[in-house]
Amino acid sequence: MFGTVNLTLRAKLALLYGTIVAVTLAGFAGIAYVTVSNELLRNLDASLERAGSSLLDIIRKEQQQARKPLASLRSRGRLSKTDPLRVDILDRPNMRNFVGPILGSGTVAPEDPVWSAVYEHMLLNSSSTALQLATDDGAVAWKSDNLGTDSLPTYGMFAREASSAKPAPIFSHYWLRGERYRIVMITADVASVTAAYPLSEVDETLRRLFSLMLYGMPMALVISGILGWFIARGSLKSVDDITRSARSITASNLQLRLPRSPNNDEIARLIDTLNEMIARLEQSFAQVRQFTSDASHELKTPLAILMGELGVALRRPMSVEEYQATLASCLEEVERLTNVVQGLLEISRAESGQVTIERAPVSLSVLVGDICDDMLLMADSKGVGFTTDIASNVMIEGDKTRLHQAVLNIIENAIKYTPQGGFVRVELLAIDGKARLLVSDTGIGIAAEDLTHIYDRFYRVDKARSKDIQGTGLGLSIVKWILDAHHATIDVVSAEGAGTTFKITFVTL
Ligand code: ADP
Repeated sequence: MFGTVNLTLRAKLALLYGTIVAVTLAGFAGIAYVTVSNELLRNLDASLERAGSSLLDIIRKEQQQARKPLASLRSRGRLSKTDPLRVDILDRPNMRNFVGPILGSGTVAPEDPVWSAVYEHMLLNSSSTALQLATDDGAVAWKSDNLGTDSLPTYGMFAREASSAKPAPIFSHYWLRGERYRIVMITADVASVTAAYPLSEVDETLRRLFSLMLYGMPMALVISGILGWFIARGSLKSVDDITRSARSITASNLQLRLPRSPNNDEIARLIDTLNEMIARLEQSFAQVRQFTSDASHELKTPLAILMGELGVALRRPMSVEEYQATLASCLEEVERLTNVVQGLLEISRAESGQVTIERAPVSLSVLVGDICDDMLLMADSKGVGFTTDIASNVMIEGDKTRLHQAVLNIIENAIKYTPQGGFVRVELLAIDGKARLLVSDTGIGIAAEDLTHIYDRFYRVDKARSKDIQGTGLGLSIVKWILDAHHATIDVVSAEGAGTTFKITFVTL
């Protein structure tokens, strides 16, 4: 809706609020207008109908009274059966003068219920109400003064056969002297009544209602727009506060947190989420800093040794044997540097998501068996006993090369950190859909406080202790990453001086 226009969230909310109010108001006003107009017309119709039908009821009763003597004549045979029992009770001209405001002074009103009722109607109803009585043959018998020389339509003009017992009244509009009237035409077998009322009053009421809505709606709209603006400003104030606080947090002061609002609302949850994110960023930044300093430290030592050795070699002429010894020492340091750089490269590639882990069936039995065959030579040459117990046909899904790298690292460490005369045992078991690889040694072990750190990069337990053992401290962090990628778990149990057992659990196929 606001896609193309670059509005602030506050303006959008105010506009949206205003639009909703406008649409609701317009809908409500439309419904109110139609309802009021229908209701006014219904009320007018009802009062016209009441006036007409009460008059007609009296006429009918009178007619029945007047017929009685004729009926008795007929029953006594004085009147032929074909003669109509017609008594036109409206045909009493002297009575008509009785109706209306002009009543000759001293004239005593004769007791005629029909004309009394007509008179009553003329008194009770508004002077704008027009009444017209017609005989059953359609001739106008009487009409109210306000009609002047004009007359109203009669029932018969609209419905010729008013044959049913109680013919329905007819409602219609009628133009008289340039004015629109609402008329109702009612009939009974003896006569028909037409009652009319000018619609100008209804129209005037509707016009007033319309102008009220016309001027009231923009005002309501402006007020709701202003209210919407303030409400939006109030609710977005906390967002502005967050923006200001968040802007002040940079890489150099990641220990800062956004102030938490006391309420437990959406804004508070947003602040919590942002604070958690900042905490994670702080941790990552700290790790990166640690990693950089560890990496440079790891690289600095072999480089310093290299520089020293080469400096000594250049300072004075040496024998061939001495040169060879210097070069061999340099090569050792270069190998160490290569290992560190390779490990770093591998970790950074894994972390940036550049390494893809293949998903293919791998026989863990064959893989572990092959590694053990190779490691047996290394253990032999070091004087470490090496035994294996490998279950056959243990299949898992994964990346063969990476799995080889991880398992090799664990077994290599076991031999590396086990002195001459010790033992290393490799076991592969398959239990309940799980494959368990146990690598135990009787080596130097790991102290309890170091156990949680062995998977950290560059972490080497007690560097003095393992200074004669080659290593970068990167091996187990790579192992952990590979196993995580295979949804495998690694646990370690160790006692310093007694030995270590690594337990890796895979899900089998
Ligand atoms: P490194 O290249 O130093 O072996 P690793 O990440 O593979 O690095 O291991 C981290 C540290 O954990 C090692 O420096 C060592 O102190 C300790 N460690 C790993 N495996 C064993 C083990 N089987 N016995 C004793 N210590 C071990």
